[in-house]
Amino acid sequence: MSPVGLYFHFPFCKSRCIYCAFYSQTQYTDFQHYVECIIHEAKATMSSSDVFTEHTKIDTVYLGGGTPSLIPVKLLSYLFTELYSTFDLSNIEEITIEVNPDDVNEEWIRQIKSFTPINRISIGVQSFNDDELKMMNRRHNADKACKAIEIISQNFDNFSIDLIYGLPLQTSESWEASINKALAFNPKHISAYSLSIENGTPLAKMISEEKITVPDEDFTIRCYHRLNEILREHGYLHYEISNYCLPNYHSRHNSNYWKDFPYIGMGAGAHSYDCKSRHWNVKDIKKYMEKIDNCLDAAEHEIITQDMKYNEYIMLGLRTSHGIDYQYINDYFGKEKLNHTIESANKVSRQFIMPDCHNALILNEEGMLFADGIASDFFII
Ligand code: SF4
Repeated sequence: MSPVGLYFHFPFCKSRCIYCAFYSQTQYTDFQHYVECIIHEAKATMSSSDVFTEHTKIDTVYLGGGTPSLIPVKLLSYLFTELYSTFDLSNIEEITIEVNPDDVNEEWIRQIKSFTPINRISIGVQSFNDDELKMMNRRHNADKACKAIEIISQNFDNFSIDLIYGLPLQTSESWEASINKALAFNPKHISAYSLSIENGTPLAKMISEEKITVPDEDFTIRCYHRLNEILREHGYLHYEISNYCLPNYHSRHNSNYWKDFPYIGMGAGAHSYDCKSRHWNVKDIKKYMEKIDNCLDAAEHEIITQDMKYNEYIMLGLRTSHGIDYQYINDYFGKEKLNHTIESANKVSRQFIMPDCHNALILNEEGMLFADGIASDFFII
């Protein structure tokens, strides 16, 4: 079987960032009960699944959110003890936790190292500029971010820094300064996202009320190219539209999503995929816990057709440096879809394509900017 990932979702935040459209609650405190629920869900999934069995080897674990670093370490330790007795983790390659810089201190890192098997940390820094951080309503300032990264880098070899470009107040200089500050810590991995304005967020409201302006698209594109230039000079590989790593330090967990490998998600709002169907849990902590406490299914389900799988493969593949592989399409989806793919690929402008790729279509740096639009021209509807 392909590699399998486990994802645990912790939809809790101490405060809300103005651009964020993810579901999370700021008042919830009964973490013990929530952790019990996700363990219960994990065990129930394994006993009811016709795809995953007790022999399924898990390759990666990811604790995401929200803010998993708000969960007391003793509860995370308990979660891992239960996971080791529920899943076959003998193959495990990577165990990541997302952290907010504000939650990191010497004692926290000591406990994480002593009581959990976590071996990779993803730090939500977003910017090293205090005005930008304050405007986003992030909990930390630049100084706090630096201290947190310093502590992490002294204890973990494998850590990633998240940045955002296209922010209100951001200038070319402040963006470049944030990139260089991140590089000063020698992270093995950097994720850099273009700010997206999501409906219903405080940011969208502030823009519509003309209380704030965001930089135009040209600025964002310049930020993207400058980022690529600087990271390339420092030896980073651009392996997915928003992700860069030093050789061999790509995020295994996320890469497996992009390769269409299965994953099991636990927690309110978490998604799962077993290659035949997709499942998504109710996006409400209270409702999720009620369902789990009463041994009811907390998820909605959707059967995945071959056409849906094909569309997904194209969409995810074009966002990565592996692109889409014609041999795989032929073997997995058949000759008809291969012909459709080659026909569609021939219509993609050469300026967006890596030259001399045999048997694959790989977008270049410019093309990745338009990956979603290019992919939609391949879709079978
Ligand atoms: S900490 Fe993360 S999940 Fe929470 S509001 Fe901010 S961006 Fe959203």
